[in-house]
Amino acid sequence: MKVLVINSGSSSIKFQLLNMEDESVLANGLVERIGEPAGRISCSLNPGVPDGTEISIEQEVKDHQCGMRLVVETLTDTNQGVVKKPDEIGAVGHRVVHGGEDFHMPTPIDENVVAAIKNNIPLAPLHNPANLDGIMVALDLFPAISQVAVFDTAYHQTIPDRAHMYALPYEMYENHKIRRYGFHGTSHKFVAGECASLMSKQLSECNLITIHLGNGCSMTAIENGQSIDTTLGMTPLEGLVMGTRCGDIDPAIPAFLYRNNGMSIDEIDEMLNKKSGLKGLCGMNDLRDIHHAVAGGDKRARLALDVQTYRNRKYIGAYMAVLGRVDGLVFTAGIGENDAYVRSESLSGLECLGINIDHMLNNQSIKKPTLVSEPQSRVQVWVIPTNEELAIARETINVLRAG
Ligand code: AMP
Repeated sequence: MKVLVINSGSSSIKFQLLNMEDESVLANGLVERIGEPAGRISCSLNPGVPDGTEISIEQEVKDHQCGMRLVVETLTDTNQGVVKKPDEIGAVGHRVVHGGEDFHMPTPIDENVVAAIKNNIPLAPLHNPANLDGIMVALDLFPAISQVAVFDTAYHQTIPDRAHMYALPYEMYENHKIRRYGFHGTSHKFVAGECASLMSKQLSECNLITIHLGNGCSMTAIENGQSIDTTLGMTPLEGLVMGTRCGDIDPAIPAFLYRNNGMSIDEIDEMLNKKSGLKGLCGMNDLRDIHHAVAGGDKRARLALDVQTYRNRKYIGAYMAVLGRVDGLVFTAGIGENDAYVRSESLSGLECLGINIDHMLNNQSIKKPTLVSEPQSRVQVWVIPTNEELAIARETINVLRAG
């Protein structure tokens, strides 16, 4: 079966078509700057194959409807397309950021699911409307094809009350659903599953700490295969230090800035989400630039690295305490997969907790799942590339087969 994975953002549509017989990628692309005068679709058809084709077309893309039509035209192009007709696509899997408390697992899309995603818009006002745009257009374009919503929050719905409740007046939860939801769930679940099979275990037997370090960062404590705590909260702002997001801060700081610095609520919100994290500390949010600056003696860049890796270490310690026994620790995403320094600094001094990294293994360039701990390390340390599109395609198929 061929599965089309759609990640619809406010001005972009990321897509990937996978052949699930062998999990190969048939097409991989992006429609961007939707709604602006100069839009673009770029796409690799049969990437990884020597005669694969690269397409990049600049043209106005008025709305998501036009964007999705372009995707279909590109995939079915008579000369270079990878499918002859849209109905060769067996299913569509949609990434949806916020499922609130309504979705514990990927779910086939019907009108009730659409209504529930709409209901959760207040929890993700930037993301859910864009995800819904993609769903509505795809339902219109592929009325006969099964479609599944795969939620970033669903994997974390097993987090117990004691870990997902904030100590606020209880009515805040009852009236506004204010609680921890967590995100990156598809990625955490995917690398946890990969790690379990690399350790020749069932996921349900494994206690793991999965560390997703990309532009957004989060860590999850996994007990017997289930998420029992995670660092991102009601929104993707809490926890670890991210590219431009602050992670944990004293919750009194926004009120302080409002009262004493003349900032509006929107300005504070923008600062915490877009001007903080690594960027806030040193002006850069790409680790490659930060290392370059550190090598040139930039003290702020050094500080940014120190603050990020210290926060990682602190949460690893916390999740070791939460889990008791930990079988494996997994680094993934752009920084986690590529930055040996961040991995080793995040684990430095944790030998007392049974974590012994092998620096030679850790320092190599890693392109596939790799064990980077010493043989005597009580906790195995793995670097496992995440693949959210493949994870969504697998979830889509599993749900349809189960149904
Ligand atoms: P992601 O959100 O998973 O795509 O990760 C993006 C982030 O990964 C970038 O902002 C960089 O900080 C980091 N990154 C990507 N490639 C490398 C690399 N080769 N070395 C260090 N960091 C990297």
